[in-house]
Formats: sequence, C-alpha cells, structure tokens
Amino acid sequence: MLSCKHMIGQLLGRQLKRHASHGITARLLEQRYVELTQPDGRQLKYPSIWLRDNCQCSECFHAATRARKSHWERGPLHVQAERVSYDEERQQLIINWQDAHNSSYDLDWLQQRDFSAEARQRYLDEVYKQPAQLWGKPQFGAVTREFAYQDVLQKDAVLCAWLEALAVHGFALLREAPHDTQVVRHLAERIGYIKHTTYGDVFEVKSKPNAGNYAYLMTPLPLHTDMPYYEYKAGINILHTLVQSESPGGANTMTDGFYIADKMRREHPEYYELLRTIPVNWYDIGHDGDAGKPFHSLWRGPVICLDIDGHFARINQNTTKRDSRFTVPLEQALAWYEAYDKFLQLAQAEAVEFKTRPGDVFVFNNLRMLHGRTAYEDSAQNKRHLIGAYVDWDIIYSKIRTLKFPNLKC
Ligand SMILES: [Zn+2]
Repeated sequence: MLSCKHMIGQLLGRQLKRHASHGITARLLEQRYVELTQPDGRQLKYPSIWLRDNCQCSECFHAATRARKSHWERGPLHVQAERVSYDEERQQLIINWQDAHNSSYDLDWLQQRDFSAEARQRYLDEVYKQPAQLWGKPQFGAVTREFAYQDVLQKDAVLCAWLEALAVHGFALLREAPHDTQVVRHLAERIGYIKHTTYGDVFEVKSKPNAGNYAYLMTPLPLHTDMPYYEYKAGINILHTLVQSESPGGANTMTDGFYIADKMRREHPEYYELLRTIPVNWYDIGHDGDAGKPFHSLWRGPVICLDIDGHFARINQNTTKRDSRFTVPLEQALAWYEAYDKFLQLAQAEAVEFKTRPGDVFVFNNLRMLHGRTAYEDSAQNKRHLIGAYVDWDIIYSKIRTLKFPNLKC
C-alpha cells in the first residue's frame, strides 16, 4: 500500500506534468482582460486595450526608435479582441482583433510588463529611482560612501556606485582630486551635462578679500538648500575643496531633509501638513557678475514637496532667499511660522559636522540635503576656496540606467 506522502508526491508529479504538457494558456476575460496562466500556476493579466495600444507589429510600432506609430484619433477603446491563444513554439501571445488586425507579444516582453503590485514596485525601485534611505545623525558614519576621484572618471562601475550612493543616501565624498579648477566640470561631464544657472556653470565659493587685512569672522551659513527659487532646482551640488581654512571653523554641516520631513510626519503631523501645503515665495534678484545681465528668479512652493507616489521629492529651505512677500491668507502665515520653527529646530538637532580637506569633492542631493558651514576666521593666511557645479537629476538617473541596464529592451 502506498504511503500518504508517496501518494501526494505522485499527485503533485501528475499535476506538474499536466501543466508542463499544457504549457501556457491564454484566455479572454469579459472582453476586457487577457489572462495568461503559466505552468507554475502564476497568472499574468493585461487590459485588452493596453495590448492593442502596445501592439508590436511594424504597422503599430517603430522598433528602431522605440516609438508607437499608431495614430489613434481618440484611442483604441472601440477595438475588441476576438480570439486569444498562446504559441508555445514561438513563446508568444497571439491576439486576433475584431478589425482583422493581428498582434503577437513575446512572453518575456509581457513578463517585464507584469501588472502585479510586486512587479510594478520592482520596476520602480530598480529602474525608475532607487528608494532613498533616510538617515539621522547617529547613522552618518554608516551611510558615508567614499570614492577615489580618478576611479570615478575611469571606471564605469565606480561611477555607477557613486551615483547610486547619491540617489540612496543623498551624498558622497570623492577623495584625491587634483588641485585643478576644472575638477567639477570634469565630474559633471562624466555624468552628462553641467547645469547652467544665473550664476553660470562653474562657480566659486570664497570670502571676499578683506581690504583692511584684519582677520574677521565669517558668520555661520545656516542649513539651506540651493536655488529654491527655481522650478528646475539644481539636482546635485558638486563642491570641490581647493583650499581649506586652517582655523577651527569652516566645517561643513549637513542634515537629511527627507529624514526631518519624515520625522515631522510621524511626530508633528499638523506641522507637517502646513509645511507640505502652504506655498512660500522663494526669490533671487540680482545680476550676473561680468555680463551684468539682470535676473529676477521667483518660485512658489512649500518647504516639503512630494512626488506623484507620495514620496519626498524636494525640500525648500533658504532663509536668505525667502521672499518677504508671503502670498497666503493671514492666518496661514501665522500657523506656518510655528511649523517652520519646528522644522528648523529638528534639522539643526540632526545636523552632522565634518570638514573637507583640499582634494575632497563633497557631492550631495540639493533636492534633499540641507547644507551649511560653521563660522570661521578669514585672513590673508587663512583662506577657504571652493569650486562648485550643478547637475540635474534627469541627467543622473539617465546615466544610472544606461550603466545598470545597457541592454534594457524598449
Ligand atoms: Zn499592430
């Protein structure tokens, strides 16, 4: 007599064999979905209209440019599938449509476009944007990533690791860059394109020469993000230390703005809502140094900005660039100051401090990190000279994708 275990094994074996012999099956559901059942029982389900919209035949799709060719006047709503089947040999889903059009779809193409929640999330996390890992002051050491400048320029794998560190942790340090004012340009061009702003492309950060030659104190630079007054705010800030102040001050300060926003959401939800919804006017009025071109930048946005998925997308904070024109109702202005005070207090409490050395390139996500500098004494013998440049995140994410997925199908 067969044991129970043995019988179950036989049954399972038969079932697997049955699935294997039948392979993948395709069927039409309510004229609205096409469902594929794979040998392991897992199902793939697609809207029929989406399949028609994404027909891969040469009449509907131009493979060389990865572009849809079909010019629907309104959309393929009216076209229905008449018959669906799965071609085991070619590993393709075949659809015959009521308007006599025929489509075929490769199984791996379909699997890559799986509508299940897990598959969609995997695509967003791996290909769209690597999820940010938020960090507070105690985690600073654990999230710090360092790379050699020459390795970033010469090795694609290191370039990719550097850019991913920026995407995930919000900052990274490059070491051993040469004493050359073009370092930041080389890095920006290694990623793709340098960003031009009203301050040019490569910019200098240093104190103005002290005419009297007496040592004077450079006041601390409070935590801020650069250029909140731009709709297209600079994505990353690349800061190369050419000369560092010998005085005890002049250290970099930094806080993960997304971490502070998250902390506010958890611990002070009313304040969080105010900072997320009340728009602030950020502005910059001046003229471009030598060219003398006047500019008047103005952007209206809250301190905490979310993206379409509800993730933190951008922090705006810059005391010097916050317009006195606060174009919100009186009561909102009053409430906003309380919330803003809490935000600054938390940001200050979580700020880390470190001091770059000549040859260091400190790079950070300007949409996320608040950065600043402690006070220092500036004198003829005690200078501080940094060179900076910006690159946009569109360019950075594009570079990450081409490095990580050079063969990703359209
Ligand atoms: Zn077609």
